[in-house]
Amino acid sequence: MRVEASSKRILTGRLEKGADLLEALTGICREAGITLGRVEAIGAIERGRIGYYDQDAREYVFTDVPGAHEIVSLAGNVSIKDGESFVHVHVALAGVDGRVVGGHLAPGSVVFACEYVIQELDGPPLARARDEATGLPLWKG
Ligand code: ZN
Repeated sequence: MRVEASSKRILTGRLEKGADLLEALTGICREAGITLGRVEAIGAIERGRIGYYDQDAREYVFTDVPGAHEIVSLAGNVSIKDGESFVHVHVALAGVDGRVVGGHLAPGSVVFACEYVIQELDGPPLARARDEATGLPLWKG
């Protein structure tokens, strides 16, 4: 499935130290009424929590990423889940040795500093619903 969309507003700003990274991005989208868009950010976290989807077990396995890490890349999108703005983000996080770990951003990642860009898109709404083939809440076509 695919939809055609065009650009609307672009919001950019900085997240507060100590904020939950995923909850802060979700809060910005809900406050601004953004239900379709893309998200990117760079910065650093005090500690992280990421998920990996076990395709056989059909469930997320979550891993704590202790200690300070750079947010090398944060990329994701905004759509609708359960009638609300839903932010789906993946991150690449680098430790002091430059090694990167990454995955599906989970609640529990604490911001040290973070600069974000959220681009609102104008197009048909994308809502998530359970996909039988994967067990994931994917965009329904
Ligand atoms: Zn994901």
